[in-house]
Amino acid sequence: MSDEKITSTENKKNDQFCSFCGKAVYEVKKLVSGRNVCICDECIALCNDIMADDLQRDAVKNGTTKLPTPHQIYDFLNEYIIGQDDAKRALSVAVYNHYKRHTVSVSDVEIQKSNVLLIGSTGTGKTLFAQTLARILDVPFAIADATTLTEAGYVGDDVESVLARLLQNANFDVEKAGRGIIYIDEIDKIARKSENPSLTRDVSGEGVQQALLKLVEGTVANVPVGGAGRKHPGEATVQLDTSKILFICGGAFDGLNKIIGARKSVRAGIGFGADVKSKQERVDASNLSDVQPEDLVKFGIIPELVGRLPIITTLQELDENALVKILTEPKNAIVKQYVAMLGIDGVKLTVTPDGLQEVAHMAVQRKTGARGLRSILEKLLLQPMFDAPEKDGLQEIVIDKDVVLGKKPYVEIFAESKKVA
Ligand code: ADP
Repeated sequence: MSDEKITSTENKKNDQFCSFCGKAVYEVKKLVSGRNVCICDECIALCNDIMADDLQRDAVKNGTTKLPTPHQIYDFLNEYIIGQDDAKRALSVAVYNHYKRHTVSVSDVEIQKSNVLLIGSTGTGKTLFAQTLARILDVPFAIADATTLTEAGYVGDDVESVLARLLQNANFDVEKAGRGIIYIDEIDKIARKSENPSLTRDVSGEGVQQALLKLVEGTVANVPVGGAGRKHPGEATVQLDTSKILFICGGAFDGLNKIIGARKSVRAGIGFGADVKSKQERVDASNLSDVQPEDLVKFGIIPELVGRLPIITTLQELDENALVKILTEPKNAIVKQYVAMLGIDGVKLTVTPDGLQEVAHMAVQRKTGARGLRSILEKLLLQPMFDAPEKDGLQEIVIDKDVVLGKKPYVEIFAESKKVA
């Protein structure tokens, strides 16, 4: 169809209708007319949606979606995450392989699903890793806390509720949700208490582990949607295949280093009669990165679930210098966020290097990793953020070490003079 045959009906008479939905020209924003047909802006938008969905589906089927390489994934992780280099490399490869497995058909070799287990104390970036990966791959993402999950029939959230959340985040597009990432936090908190499989029902978490196992290894689950969205009008549940969903489980696994240390001591022949001190030293020095699947089973994760989490990665405790970097360097660093917020009020925020160091020092003492940083800054900046919009001529707010330590109020610099609040 040539251009001159297509005209917008902006200035035309009121007797034209969209040939697709039947709406009149005055009921829509734009009506485009061809030789004997018209189409309104709403139908054009709907057609665009349908085309985009189809193209995406074809691309996935043909393996032509652009999958970032491990190097590209690693570089992207670097923009948001400080340190944790081993985890970055391991996850870049794991995630690349996971999605490659589903976008390209590989002869007759069956490549095992590469679900991931992240081990690291609170605030080391486990959730951030999962979130950032979902962002790189542009796939839907959902987080669940293992401690709130229950077996079906018990009070609490069924494990299927996690799928419902993922589906919701995928705008109820079943196919898109089927390629998403689910992060299950606090997986260590549903460890069973004894290593022997229980004969009776285990309320300490084994049942939840069994229920999770089904999802993680791949099943077709009925997910409640309650007739939501134009994609499933009237339907109460939809079927979601979890075999292509990437599951990332995370936990602190307190005490795991003792289990690793004990195993290593036994292997090294330091058992009965050995020098107690050297054994203790071994346990303390044992590194979480030496973890083996058998250690996780000893910890209380059922062997079947351990088997379904073949990529095990450990995150290091963040030291003071890493925390200073976290405050300022990532693309969405916490200090950058506060600078932007105060910038809206026309006020510059400066946190001096010794101020940053002190904030990091406090966070290390609290033992909450990077998690503590935001709450420390939030407390420090509450008053300045409360006052700033009211103060005429306020140009800059300075937070230095003494301000962080509470020895003096924050420093205000005005257009003309400098005074202390
Ligand atoms: P976890 O899940 O391990 O308890 P989170 O991923 O929730 O920790 O991290 C808590 C906060 O600290 C988040 O705001 C996150 O952005 C930040 N954070 C944690 N680790 C890092 C890191 N290595 N680099 C940058 N920011 C981090």
